[in-house]
Formats: sequence, C-alpha cells, structure tokens
Amino acid sequence: MKLSVHRAAFAALAMLALAVLNACAPVMHARHHHEHQAKAPKNIIVLFGDGAASTQWELGRYTSRELRNRPFAVTDVVMRQGTLGLMSTYSADSPVTDSAAAASAMSTGYKTDNDRVSVTPDGKAVTTVMEAAKARGKRIGLVTTATVHDASPAAFSVHAKSRRESQAIVDQLLALEPDVLMGGGRDYFLPQGKGGGRRNDGRDVISAFAAKGYAVVQEPAALAKAGSQRLLALFNDTDMGHEIDRDPVQEPSPAEMAAAALRVLEANSPDGFVLFLEDENIDTAGHRNDAAALVRDLWAFDDAVQVALEFQRRVPDTLIIVTGDHETGGLSWTYAQKDLSSMATDNRFYPGRAHLDLLMSIRGSLAKAADALGRKPDAGTLAKVVAERFPGFTLDADLREAILGGQTIERNVTYLPHGLLGRMVARQTGFYWGTSGHTTEPAVVGAIGPGASGFRGYMDNTDFARALHRLIDPR
Ligand SMILES: [Zn+2]
Repeated sequence: MKLSVHRAAFAALAMLALAVLNACAPVMHARHHHEHQAKAPKNIIVLFGDGAASTQWELGRYTSRELRNRPFAVTDVVMRQGTLGLMSTYSADSPVTDSAAAASAMSTGYKTDNDRVSVTPDGKAVTTVMEAAKARGKRIGLVTTATVHDASPAAFSVHAKSRRESQAIVDQLLALEPDVLMGGGRDYFLPQGKGGGRRNDGRDVISAFAAKGYAVVQEPAALAKAGSQRLLALFNDTDMGHEIDRDPVQEPSPAEMAAAALRVLEANSPDGFVLFLEDENIDTAGHRNDAAALVRDLWAFDDAVQVALEFQRRVPDTLIIVTGDHETGGLSWTYAQKDLSSMATDNRFYPGRAHLDLLMSIRGSLAKAADALGRKPDAGTLAKVVAERFPGFTLDADLREAILGGQTIERNVTYLPHGLLGRMVARQTGFYWGTSGHTTEPAVVGAIGPGASGFRGYMDNTDFARALHRLIDPR
C-alpha cells in the first residue's frame, strides 16, 4: 500500500517534470534562436588547436606568463573576456574520438565513426561549415600546419568515407575553390615522379589551381608579398614542422599564415568570410609525448590568435572561436619521486622554474631526435644524441634498453622511440603523459565577438556545429 502510494506520487512527479520540460523547451529554443539571429557576425574565425583541451591551454597560459612574461591570448583574452564552453568529443563508434570524427561532428552536427570525413556512419554526405558559408556568399579559407588534405580541414569542407582518401579530398578542394588554402600536403597535388608527388592519376593539381586564377606560393617570403588574389600556399610535401624546429626561410609561422589569410579573405567580401585555422602540431606533440615542442607550438598558436584579435579590433563584426577537437597524450604535469631508491617525501620533487628551464633547454623536437637516432641506433649514437639534444638529462637503464631493443614500456606508448625519450624528460621535469593517443577529456570552446553566446556552457561537439551553422545561415 505504502509502496504504491509512493509509486503514484513518483509517477505524478515525473509527469509534472516532463510537462514542465515540454513547456520550457520551445521557449528556450525560441530565445536562443532570437539571440543568434540578432547577433550573426559578418566574419567568423575558427582557431583550432588539434589535440588541445584545458590541460594544453593551461600549459600555454602558465609558461607564457612564466617564461615569456606575456599574457596568453587564448585564456587571458578569448576565454576570460568572451564566453567559455566545454565540449564532449565522443564519436559514433567510440568514446575516444579521432580527429576525423571530431571535426565532422563540429562541422556538420552529425556524429560519425572514427576515420570518416563529414559523412554519416552509413556514408551519406552532410553539409559542412565551408559548404554552408560558400552557399551564403561568404569567402572561405582553410589554413593548417598539417597537410591541407588532413582530417580536420577536410571535415570542415568536403567529404570522404575515410580520412586516408587524400587524393579524392584534394580533388574536392579544387572543386570547392576555397579562397585561401594553405598548409602542407603538396604530395597529393603532384603526380608520382614530380617532386614529392604521390598522385596516381598523373594530374598536377597545383597547375589546376593556377589555371583557376589562384596565386601559388611555396615559401614564406612570397607569402608576405602575395596580394588579395585567391591563394594556394603549400610549404611542405607532408606536414609542416614543429615551431621548435621551424626554419623561417622554409615555413611560415601560424601567425604569418593567419595574417596572409585574413588579408586575402577581407578583400572583396561584402558578405564576410569564414576562416578555419588549425595548429596540428599541438596534437602531434601530444602523440609523441613531446612537452618541449608542445610549449613552443602553443605559443605559436597563441600568436595566431593575437593576429585574429587585432583583426577583430579593426573589424568588430567578427566572431573569434578558439577550440580543439579532443585532448591528446593525457598530459599531467605532476610531482613525482626523483628516483626509485626511496619512497620518502624528501625524495620527491615538485615541478618548478628549474624543471621548466630544464625542459626549455632541450634542442629540437623528439621527432628530430628520433631522426638522429635512425632505425636501429647503437649505444654510442644514443648517448651522443642524448648529450647533444637533452643537456642535463640522464637516460635511465630501462629506457636505454627499450630504445636499443626497439621495444615499448607500456601498451599505450606506441610512438617509438619518442614516447621513451618523453618518459626520460618526464622523470626529470614532471611532464608525465598517460598515453600516445587521444583521451576523452572534454575540449574547451572560447568565443569572443558577436554570436559568442551560442558557445556557452556544457555542449556536445554536434551542438558546436549547430551554433556555427545558425550564425552562418540565420534564416
Ligand atoms: Zn591526433
């Protein structure tokens, strides 16, 4: 008896709750809709730190203050003065997303399986951010430090059943005609046998872009001189390098790419533009457990955010969004035992300025160190590489044996020898990594300018797409 009364009361309460929810839903939706309609910006700049979540942004903020004595625009301007959101990143087939599924959800509003590029799990193409922008008469730009046919820029613009369909992605980019296309990835623009070409159909797509009236640029000096003509700029056969290794004669910085892209997109754009600018090196540094490279890549990305903020000061009808697609590496800067001789607290170190200085003394990326080691390093070569590139570091015997034996120390440390060198760095600086892969940590969305309120609070990456599409096409 008593139980059934409780049951009835519970049922009534549940129905009441449902009724309240139903009554509220259209009201809330209408309010949001009105808000977006009222504030749709002319220009939208999406600054995309691949592999960056709150852990990475906080590392950028802390090190920028501590070592550069400079504010970090991502956190100190965009996220503090604008709006802040957190974003779940799971894909249709896994709680752990890859970059293709994440960018597809953020571009189209549809969850898909890992590896797919803006198609649903059953292969249906769904409208991307850049397709929507182009249909509304906006100019569009895609800029990345990865290859321009890589998963994220591809998912923001075109479609593929697999992110590895690089040649077909480039063909679709040629058909889409972005006003700016900039980054690495010359390989799938050129036929096999020509430069670093990997196309199997003999076509030269760089020439095809030129025939459509594009300025073609392949070095930073020419980028600075390029005018407002539509622009294809390719600086590497594959990915562009980490900031810590960058030769400014060969490759521009993300800030230089941002400035050039904004110059082209602003010209002749009565209906505004949408620019997607990605720093892929943040993700790459995470995969390789490379904290020293990561710090420089975060600063380089932040310099590009500064360029966007300067543009916004001059053209206030511009929304700036800073985000990432997922976290990479499971980075924890933490305290640890100095060695395993004693578990006493006086054998423990808390990371501080000295550990940061030691990290910053590392010469070049772990990828360059791996290149210097070669495929099967001997003990002498390994000792030499450590002494030259990692001053002040000691390679423990377990890590030395693993590197010389070509073996890993844990199943989720899969980039070798990078992950093992990364563990050497961790043991003396406290920059420990949980994995060579992506994690489920929610991504962070900062937005500043007209329309920023649509990206506030806890959202899904499909909500991100819906908010963006409403601003691009407010009808
Ligand atoms: Zn990744």
